Amino acid sequence: MSKIQMKTPLVEMDGDEMTRVLWKDIKDLLILPFVDLKTEYYDLGLKYRDETEDQVTIDSANATLKYGVAVKCATITPNAQRVEEYHLKQMWKSPNGTIRAMLDGTVFRAPILVKGVRPTVRTWEAPITIARHAYGDVYKNTEVRIPGAGKAEIVFTGADGQEIRQTIFDFQGPGVVQGIHNLDASITSFAHACFQYALSVKQDLWFSTKDTISKTYDHRFKDIFAEIYESDYKAAFEQAGIEYFYTLIDDAVARVVRSKGGFIWACKNYDGDVMSDMIATAFGSLAMMTSVLVSPTGQFEYEAAHGTVTRHYYRYLKGEETSTNPVATIFAWSGALRKRGELDGLPELQDFADRLEKATLDTINGGIMTKDLALLYEGEAQGVNSRQFLEAIAEKLK
Ligand code: NAP
Ligand code: MG
Repeated sequence: MSKIQMKTPLVEMDGDEMTRVLWKDIKDLLILPFVDLKTEYYDLGLKYRDETEDQVTIDSANATLKYGVAVKCATITPNAQRVEEYHLKQMWKSPNGTIRAMLDGTVFRAPILVKGVRPTVRTWEAPITIARHAYGDVYKNTEVRIPGAGKAEIVFTGADGQEIRQTIFDFQGPGVVQGIHNLDASITSFAHACFQYALSVKQDLWFSTKDTISKTYDHRFKDIFAEIYESDYKAAFEQAGIEYFYTLIDDAVARVVRSKGGFIWACKNYDGDVMSDMIATAFGSLAMMTSVLVSPTGQFEYEAAHGTVTRHYYRYLKGEETSTNPVATIFAWSGALRKRGELDGLPELQDFADRLEKATLDTINGGIMTKDLALLYEGEAQGVNSRQFLEAIAEKLK
């Protein structure tokens, strides 16, 4: 059997712990036998990040800017305990944070559906993708506890000396205040990423804020989206047969629950944080959630939404059997390969990505799955270890 050829390399970002183990098995069992895989490899495992003083993370992000498509394994974000465990030179920043900042991206998260794991919401038939703006608002705030009576004000001092001053509240007693901000540039990037992603998957795009109450702040988001849609995307959306639709966040919540799914829901930072956990849980499990970072200039980085599954890794190190769910990581690979195929005009590679996903889902639908899923599954389910699960998928692929 001749292997499927590639043109441009994928940027491959290896990672840590249990997902690093799965990473190698996925490649060995599900990809290398079928694809003449071309990657530019970056080892984002914590040990090598430390050795290179995190330069490898920066290099991998630059490679993504150069080639356009990356696939990333989950990585450890070091804390004090990890500094000790790995004898780190320093508490390196989150690789995801570094990569996101360099690609200026928006994160899209979508659940993977299988027949035996039914969404809690009966009407949902297709996945709902959350597009989360990952800059500013309450995540970059300034908060003050007000000790007692007095006046709280917003003061802006322009570089040209111009001053804007407004009263927030005349306090008669103790309370709290908070200052938040966002940037036209960041909202603009967010909008481009959402519109481009909707076009790339040919799904409707919903966007919601609370502009009726937040008449300046949230309204700015609404206006920027509307302007960019009109000027840059309207024609392409009409041609693709998809729709851009703005509504209030509370109306959106009601519509989402009544919907059949199958669309993208763009959310401000806080809304996206909260709603992506709600969507993931209501569809089944975090181990079945894909994640893709999309930059406004059209780069894509695919990964699983979960972490390195440390608890399973420690059991693996002791030689115990582990049943860690590799589905989201397999879908990170299929997503990246499909996108590479699309960009390079390689229908065989796109087709392989489809078949890899189908083989994975067929294996689960055939009753073979990792133990986390077997617990949720309605019907005959055989909970197997990760290796057996991957071997079963490989059999189907062949
Ligand atoms: P986690 O790795 O997502 O795991 C939390 C728990 O969720 C696991 O112990 C396991 O539960 C369950 N789980 C998650 N993924 C699973 C899978 N694929 N199959 C089966 N069960 C799964 O989160 P964490 O333990 O909080 O974080 C571990 C490390 O990952 C940390 O160092 C963190 O910095 C890093 N992290 C990285 C990323 C990323 O790179 N994108 C994201 C989040 C966290 P049971 O133990 O009950 O089976
Ligand atoms: Mg959250």
